[in-house]
Amino acid sequence: MANPQDRLNQNVRGPFYVDASCVDCDMCRTTAPEIFRRDEEIGMSVVHRQPVSPDEYALAEEALQGCPTESIGHEKQPLPREGQPANKV
Ligand code: SF4
Repeated sequence: MANPQDRLNQNVRGPFYVDASCVDCDMCRTTAPEIFRRDEEIGMSVVHRQPVSPDEYALAEEALQGCPTESIGHEKQPLPREGQPANKV
């Protein structure tokens, strides 16, 4: 399971991320090139754009499931309850 504390700074903000255990196997970039790309400086994959459609979300999830080192994470953000500010759960 990906570790949010090892989340690479090169990921864009948002729920999907790659952590520092990536071994640069290329699988996620092949599966979802709109979401993942190689950061040449660190030699690992990062999320360069968060999914914005159900199809992209499914591809990002497929990459997450298929990553051989479980380096892809997805932080589920709690939805704010009706009538409450977004920062209170
Ligand atoms: S599938 Fe996993 S190990 Fe392979 S490049 Fe993507 S994040 Fe790295």
